This record gives sequence, structure tokens and C-alpha cells, in this order.
Amino acid sequence: MQHFKYLIIGGGIAGTTAAETIRKNDTDGTIAIVSDEPHTLYSRVLLSKPGFVRGEQPLDSVWLKKPEWYEENKITFIGGVSATNLDGVSKKISLSNGEEIEYEKLLLAIGAHSRKWTIPGSDKKGIHYLRGLDDTKGIMEAVKTKKHAVLVGSGCVSFEIAEILRSLNITTTLVMREKSFGEPLLSEVEGKMIENTLEKNNVTIKRQTEVSEVFGGEEVAGVFLKNGEKLDCDMVFAMIGVVYPTEWLKQSGISLGRGIIANEFLETSISDVWTAGDIAEYNDTVLNETMQCGNWMNSRGQGEIAALGMVGKRTEYKMVTFQTSHGFGDLIGFVGDTRPALGRTVVYRVAPEKNSIVRIIISEEKIIGATLINRMAEMGTITKLIKDGVKVSGMLESIINPEFDLKTLFPTV
Ligand SMILES: Cc1cc2nc3c(=O)[nH]c(=O)nc-3n(C[C@H](O)[C@H](O)[C@H](O)COP(=O)(O)OP(=O)(O)OC[C@H]3O[C@@H](n4cnc5c(N)ncnc54)[C@H](O)[C@@H]3O)c2cc1C
Repeated sequence: MQHFKYLIIGGGIAGTTAAETIRKNDTDGTIAIVSDEPHTLYSRVLLSKPGFVRGEQPLDSVWLKKPEWYEENKITFIGGVSATNLDGVSKKISLSNGEEIEYEKLLLAIGAHSRKWTIPGSDKKGIHYLRGLDDTKGIMEAVKTKKHAVLVGSGCVSFEIAEILRSLNITTTLVMREKSFGEPLLSEVEGKMIENTLEKNNVTIKRQTEVSEVFGGEEVAGVFLKNGEKLDCDMVFAMIGVVYPTEWLKQSGISLGRGIIANEFLETSISDVWTAGDIAEYNDTVLNETMQCGNWMNSRGQGEIAALGMVGKRTEYKMVTFQTSHGFGDLIGFVGDTRPALGRTVVYRVAPEKNSIVRIIISEEKIIGATLINRMAEMGTITKLIKDGVKVSGMLESIINPEFDLKTLFPTV
């Protein structure tokens, strides 16, 4: 049986950053990454970006680590193989190829998978998901010949895909369950701004409905909606969210929620097992909340912090996460915790003449999160206000004035 000092399941940005950080701190310890994808690390972020999908950027620009990097750093990459069982007592992982690996320290950085449709007709050719490089390659090929798309789901990736489709003159209909785009991550007023942009660019929107069936022969010919409408199309994008691939971990006894539960050091409930990235449901000590993030910077940061724990340099994960997205020239930013839960105050800074809006979420007198549309210049200041836990009670009247400089909220020394 193979034995590694450090075993990492998942070769995305969280797992690979962890391997890199371990190697910087332990020059000799054996490291292996097991990944169910055959590819070395690539930029998942690029997979929905117009320049890349339209083929204007070289395909090779997607690679963040080439095979040589793993060799140079003495990191064994086991690609195209899934972890299927964790035995936290004898410290063993079973693999889909029938092998077992012993570990001393284990990282579970298994990310998320696309949620798959189970509706009638969902096995037809021409239905696209978007999580991995092979999905994007399929989309790049399809947009060369297809003319009519139905895009299902109102997340950031849908917004980016809509821009790509329209720029290629593909007629596009967006079908969403929600009343307004991006709910609940975006408020109704923000969602309507994005919808305006979509409609100005000739994207038709079908609100508060779902696809009930995909029809056609072997290939997609259209969809039926629950509201009774029929839409003809030759491609469908099912952007219906993600699932967390934790099924195989259930029997191990590890604490699971939506993802893998961890403390602020990214340690799980099983000793010598850490987690990081999209899968980690961790104790966020900046926000005093259990958080699970789906963004690149968070995954990279957590990969580093988990690795430090694995090499015996236990460090707390303390980061205000952020993410940006864009479509048709609009820029959307998310920072911190943007959930408008009970007991939280929500204030807006609206500047219609600049087509910009910032929604600030306040809890216990402190800013804990914000969404920004076309006003990225304030992202850094808001991030620091969250990080420093600056009290803003009594300042709400000023904050709602879009001309008010948020930097003046910092206490003067
Ligand atoms: C199309 C797209 C666009 C995005 N754009 C942005 C953006 O603009 N900005 C931003 O901040 N974020 C963006 N994101 C999100 C960002 O890419 C993710 O947050 C980040 O890649 C998560 O990294 P991770 O390492 O946690 O997980 P992943 O990258 O998902 O890596 C986990 C890996 O583990 C593998 N795995 C799972 N289970 C097993 C198993 N049992 N055995 C072996 N391997 C397993 C998975 O297949 C995967 O390869 C985007 C995501 C997508 C899909």
C-alpha cells in the first residue's frame, strides 16, 4: 500500500495551493494529490470568461500548473481517480481504482460539482453544465454552429454566459425561478438592474418559472416550461447550482453539513484531517458566523492555512472574502457575508446617473458584507471596514449618501 505523509484529495486551487505551501515548509515530506479530473491545475475562473470561451485567448492560458511543476516539487499527482472511502482510524483512503493509500495528514479539498438535471429529456445532447474544463470545451464547440439558447438559472455564471452567447449572435432566453435576477444573493433592486442590462442586450427573460421537460430526438429541440410555454432551441445551459460531493464521506463519521464542517483552523471533526475551499463550512471569526464560500480567493487562502496546520504551524483563517463578476460591461462585486438575515440592517448607496448601487449589510452595528454594482472602487474600503469591525451605528444617514466617503468611517487616531 502506498503511504504519503501528506495526502490531498482534490487538485483544484485549494488542494494545489496546500501542496505548494506544504512543500515550502517541509522540503522532504511525501505529498500526493488525488483528483478525479485528469487535468493538472487550471483556472476554473476562466471557464466562463468571454475572451476564453470565444477562443480569443489561447486554450493553453488556462493551465496554472504544468506536469513539470509537480515533478520539480516532488508532488505525486494521481489524476482521473476518485477517493471513495475514508477510514479516519487506520488513516487510509480507498480509491476508485481499487487501491488504498495511507496518510499521516489528510486534506479534503473536494470543491463542488454541477447539480445535474433529472427532469424528462435531461439526457439529450445539447444540454450543457459548466464546472470543469471539459464542459467549456464542449460549449466552445457548440457555439460554433448553434443559434438558439435557453439559459437556466440566474447566477453570476449565467450572466457571463449570456454575454458570450449574445456576442455570438445566438438568440438567448433566460429562464429563472426567482422573481428577480440573482436572488437571494442580489436584492430585488440590484437584480432588476442586471435584468435591464440583459434585456437591453436582447436577452428574453422568463421569470418565476422552471423547465419541466426538454424535448427533441437525440438532440435538444426545445424546452417546456412549468408555466405552459414552449421554447424552441438547439442548446440548453443548465446553470442550476452545485452539489457538494460528500456522499462517500458519510460512513467515516466526519461532521457534515452542506459541506464539511471545520473550525477556524480548518480542522475537521476527525483528527489529522483538514478541509479547504468551496467544500469547507468553517467558523468565520471575522463575521462570527459559519460560512461556506464559492470563490477563488477564499479557496486559495484556505488551502494555504490548512497546509500550515498540516505542517504543524496552526494558523487561524481570517479573511474577508470577495468575488467579482461581469457581463455586458456591468461589474458585480460581493464582499463578506451578503445574506440579509433577520436582525440585520440593509442600506443602499444608489447613484442612478452612474448606473451604480451598493448594498451594505450591517449586523450588531458593524458592516459584515456588501454587494456592489458598477462601483468597485469602494470594495477595498468596505473590506477593511469589515475586517476592522468598525462600528457604524449613527452613521446610516451618511452612508446612504453616494457622495459620502466611506473612508471617513474609520476612527481617527
Ligand atoms: C465557470 C466558473 C466560473 C467562476 N468564476 C469565478 C470568478 O470569476 N471569481 C471567483 O472568485 N470564483 C469563480 N468561480 C468559483 C471558483 O472557481 C471556485 O470557488 C474555486 O475553483 C474552488 O476551488 P476548490 O479547490 O475549492 O474546488 P474545485 O476547483 O472544485 O476543485 C476540487 C477538485 O476536487 C475534485 N474531487 C471532488 N471529489 C473528489 C473525490 N472524491 N476524489 C478525487 N477528487 C475529487 C473535483 O472534481 C475537483 O477537481 C467560478 C467557478 C466556475 C465553475
